[in-house]
Amino acid sequence: MEFLIPFLPCGRPARTFAPCGKIAFQAGAPCRSILLTGIAITAHTLPLDNAFAALPPAFYTRLMPTPLPAPYFVAASAPAASLIGLDAARLAEPGFVELLSGNAVAERSLPLAAVYSGHQFGVWAGQLGDGRAILLGDIATEHGPMELQLKGAGATPYSRMGDGRAVLRSSIREFLCSEAMAALGIPTSRALSIMGSQQGIMRETVETAAVVTRMAPSFVRFGSFEHWFYRKKPDELKILADYVIDSFYPHLRAAANPYQALLAEVCVRTAHMIAHWQAVGFMHGVMNTDNMSILGLTLDYGPFGFMEAFDTEHICNHTDQQGRYSYANQPQVGHWNCYALGQALLPLIGEVAEAQAALDTYQSAFAEKMNTLLRAKLGLRTQHDDDTQLFDSMFALMQTNHVDFTNFFRTLATLQVDAPEHDTVLRDMFIDRPAFDTWAAQYRTRLRQEHSVDAERQEAMNLVNPKYVLRNYLAQVAIEKAQQHDYTEVATLLEILQKPFDEQPEHQHYAALPPDWASHLEVSCSS
Ligand code: AMP
Ligand code: MG
Repeated sequence: MEFLIPFLPCGRPARTFAPCGKIAFQAGAPCRSILLTGIAITAHTLPLDNAFAALPPAFYTRLMPTPLPAPYFVAASAPAASLIGLDAARLAEPGFVELLSGNAVAERSLPLAAVYSGHQFGVWAGQLGDGRAILLGDIATEHGPMELQLKGAGATPYSRMGDGRAVLRSSIREFLCSEAMAALGIPTSRALSIMGSQQGIMRETVETAAVVTRMAPSFVRFGSFEHWFYRKKPDELKILADYVIDSFYPHLRAAANPYQALLAEVCVRTAHMIAHWQAVGFMHGVMNTDNMSILGLTLDYGPFGFMEAFDTEHICNHTDQQGRYSYANQPQVGHWNCYALGQALLPLIGEVAEAQAALDTYQSAFAEKMNTLLRAKLGLRTQHDDDTQLFDSMFALMQTNHVDFTNFFRTLATLQVDAPEHDTVLRDMFIDRPAFDTWAAQYRTRLRQEHSVDAERQEAMNLVNPKYVLRNYLAQVAIEKAQQHDYTEVATLLEILQKPFDEQPEHQHYAALPPDWASHLEVSCSS
């Protein structure tokens, strides 16, 4: 067998890592789900198919969600609901609360948990799988089928020592961030709703349970392919690759080597996704191959973070002590993960050279996308050879001054080419103001070269530099209120984050820097 996977790109030593997700008590409750019939939302209004269930049984385990005691509505996303033709207001109705908490299943639903494997923190972890997610099926939309998955819907054969549940805290974070990322224009899985329950869930302390309904055309991961490769099951590997190509990349059938073309396209999509992350300062805290979508979607929001005081070495996941998934490392880790996928697809691709050629698309796709996004962030309409130097000196300046990522880019739009004397607000973001002046002079020269018009540039920049992102402290406030059964802050944040580029002057304080109390906030794999 030929091996493709290189050493860790970040140059840090690999370490073994227990499954990300702290172990709590085993739920083990017998399945008591009922078939939801006779209510308007069943087979007729929620016409679920399950294309994934048409794969051979080895790919999943059919099972019902474990009912959640006395579920109640917490939140729903109107744009996500409209994607599947639903009115979000209806999701608070008892029928939907039952359905989206796993206490009832629609008539045509074939619930299942999928099996996959993966590399966790660079180490082969063997079999994982949907340990707490249950796929209900897919709904046809004008953009193709959309799968509905309940996260936190009870134990499955892949739960290992986990309880199959998710807590309200992490569910709110996943819900808000999925929808915020979509509004930022970043490829992502979506979040339809959160249903809560008073059921106690043991994490560091006892918390309460919740179920997030996630949506994506597919939840197949890089690790889904690795599973069959490491089990030496070429037939299943081919079935999965053919399913993915035929369902989501049908144009690749025309390629001379469709499996190589699949790898190349996934590399490009992954590179683009990570460039988008970097351009808004988003960090995925657990870029394990089991969390990498075969569709290039941001998937499995756990200990994620948005960059505040800029530090390229920032690690958003407290559990990631070695910083494998630091901001600076994420692009390279994305490439490493593509190598892991390439390794798994190698028996189908055939030649190492062909796999390598597909993998080589990653770096240029990333660099190209990143430069395009950065030019837009700086309001540049043309491309110059020394743009990279301008970007590098900007990041160096941001680094030494620990300037707030989001606010810096948003405020940069206020710069006037011919009026440095009006730079005060921007300039005051920096400790080393003369250093800022030097960079700003360079930037102004560049703007003059393309005859940039202040008002036009400002408008264009405000369409790509968000004013509002899901800062940890904002999520924390919403979580703490929700833990006291006040869900208004979750709804308010959702509304603000769905229009991240709008000024929303009435919500100005949501763009503020984190307060002092937030300095101790840490997010970990506990979810
Ligand atoms: P993650 O790092 O959260 O993506 O999870 C890694 C693996 O652990 C996946 O197979 C999850 O399904 C599983 N897992 C995480 N938390 C739990 C839990 N509370 N119960 C069961 N399985 C879990
Ligand atoms: Mg995961």
